[in-house]
Amino acid sequence: MKPIIIIGSGLAGYTVAREFRKLDKTTPLFILTADDGGFYSKPMLSNAFAQGKQASQLTSFTAAQMAGQLGATIITGTRVIAIDPAAKTVEAGAGKFGYEKLVLAVGARAVRPSLDGDAAEEVISVNHVDDYANFRRAIGEPGSRIAIMGAGLIGCEFADDLAGGHRITLIDPNPLPLAALAAPALSAGLKEALEKRGVDLRLGTTVRSVDRDANAYAVTLSDGRQLQADAVLSAIGLRPDLRLAHAAGLQTGRGILVDDYGMTSAQDIFALGDCAEYGAGSGGGEVMPYIAPLMSAARAVARTLAGTPAAIELKPAPVIVKTPSYPMALLPVPAAGKNGAWQELLHEGRTICRYHDADGVMTAFGVAPQEAGIRQALLAELGSRIR
Ligand code: FAD
Repeated sequence: MKPIIIIGSGLAGYTVAREFRKLDKTTPLFILTADDGGFYSKPMLSNAFAQGKQASQLTSFTAAQMAGQLGATIITGTRVIAIDPAAKTVEAGAGKFGYEKLVLAVGARAVRPSLDGDAAEEVISVNHVDDYANFRRAIGEPGSRIAIMGAGLIGCEFADDLAGGHRITLIDPNPLPLAALAAPALSAGLKEALEKRGVDLRLGTTVRSVDRDANAYAVTLSDGRQLQADAVLSAIGLRPDLRLAHAAGLQTGRGILVDDYGMTSAQDIFALGDCAEYGAGSGGGEVMPYIAPLMSAARAVARTLAGTPAAIELKPAPVIVKTPSYPMALLPVPAAGKNGAWQELLHEGRTICRYHDADGVMTAFGVAPQEAGIRQALLAELGSRIR
């Protein structure tokens, strides 16, 4: 019997494996992964510092332990370089493997900033627990100066997390942090909270160059100003990893296009997690690089792999922004419905923002401070969302 092969041991790969094993205890399951296959919760990376966690404390199970739990063969440190959908084989550093069904859970790659300067290559991105280990080494002692490029979700979370012990400068081209995801009132609230924490926000500008300067870096901004930093972190975004999909001739958009069942354009090849673009079968696909959609996709794909086709149900799920100094929940505006407007309300010390599309249907919201009750109440108010 040929195995089911999963490529990738991030949350997408391991969750689909776990869900599959609940339904099918016998079909051979192979997981091929480029990393060491340790299980960790990636969202922890941007709030582990304040909790005093080292990288080694974030990995809860080794690959061998995961193999035992999942009844799977896990081959670590091997990068899959080619897929032959007709022959149903994958080619990896560790050899060639035949599959019955294949799941791509290869994640996303950090967008490399295009920078001048002799230290541009030393800018760090954190998209894996190993990156976090490097980052912890690079930031050095408390009090060191860290320049963070990008005030999106990850940049803001890192800024708030590190501000307790380090001197943080947060740089972004937008006039407010989290501009792409949050209502302006919430972005303004976050800005104020970060400033109270001592974060130096440089907004409306970008990093132009990073140069070595004695034992530190000279960071030059596009507005001509310069600052010194002991480490430079780039949090300017992630892009689905399409290398394998392209090599295999699968259809891609921003991500690997999958239909409502998580199936790619090739028979018996599925994709989920940060690499996937969901809903391509029903028009207008969307990349959803968050845990909630990944979990829904994993449950559905596991059922389909186990022989009972199940469509992925992507229910609206707010993103919890892990900025303890201004805790927010955000349900971002759907990609296909940006021609509406935000409405803001201050109620009992909370900022509540509702987004209505051009037809007056509420399709997004944001709230700070957030807690489960208010999230549920806002979710219940939602109209049918346009995807
Ligand atoms: P990944 O975790 O990137 O896993 C990809 C796997 O594929 C890896 O094991 C890799 O080694 C392997 N791989 C890649 N290419 C190959 C190949 N060719 N051959 C073999 N193996 C390969 N989401 C939320 O919902 N809430 C949050 O609070 C939140 N916080 C976050 C904080 C940070 C700092 C980051 C970076 C992300 C955060 N996210 C959050 C997003 C969330 O963590 C991701 O959506 C999710 O972890 C993606 O999992 P994945 O398995 O798709 O990808």
